[in-house]
Amino acid sequence: MKHLPRILVVEDEPAIAELIAVNLKHGGFSPVLAYDSVAAQRELDVALPDLILLDWMLPGQSGLMLARQWRKQERTKSIPIIMLTARGDEPDKVAGLDAGADDYITKPFSTQELLARIRAALRRRIPEPESEGEGVSVGELALNGATHRTTHQGRELKLGPTEFKLLHYLMKHAERVHSRASLLDNVWGDQVFIEERTVDVHVKRLREALGTAGTMIETVRGAGYRLTRSTERTAAAPTGQ
Ligand code: CA
Repeated sequence: MKHLPRILVVEDEPAIAELIAVNLKHGGFSPVLAYDSVAAQRELDVALPDLILLDWMLPGQSGLMLARQWRKQERTKSIPIIMLTARGDEPDKVAGLDAGADDYITKPFSTQELLARIRAALRRRIPEPESEGEGVSVGELALNGATHRTTHQGRELKLGPTEFKLLHYLMKHAERVHSRASLLDNVWGDQVFIEERTVDVHVKRLREALGTAGTMIETVRGAGYRLTRSTERTAAAPTGQ
């Protein structure tokens, strides 16, 4: 089953929110509606969307404040945000972009424009800007985000796309223990559609692909996984499965 991109629509005017939802469904997206900042935060706590459509003028906390807040949090900082605004003037657009919005649409907008902007924002998201192009190494294991090459002691390793993302994340945050839930959030980005056991399956595949470097990924009983350089040269038995 193909995963329809989930779009969180934060809009306090029900008529507009409903209209956007209908259009998103027709456009091949899965909309989730939130009418205020509290409801939006609740939805984010349950599952991370692929993109957020955020109305500027909301009761209570403004869209601008929310964008700023989500950009600061590790869990939500890379979700694309498109601001919806009834204002068209330049300072406001700049404020929105400064707050961390990826794009903005001025109301009233056409459905076609909305869908096009969403698709563009999702496309831009695919190569993750902060990790792309960045080389990272732990011990004799080296990974390059731009070329998608991974080497151990200079020898190239063959990794599947998920194993690559998983390794990239573990290497960027080496020596730290990551729970399965946090790996799902950070590597898969949405814990609703995937079971925690999936993490174990990919860790197993990753260890196999790493060969002798596979022991660098430790199972921390009752806690999760950790990538460490300390076991790299020792012939330590793999911990756990
Ligand atoms: Ca509004």
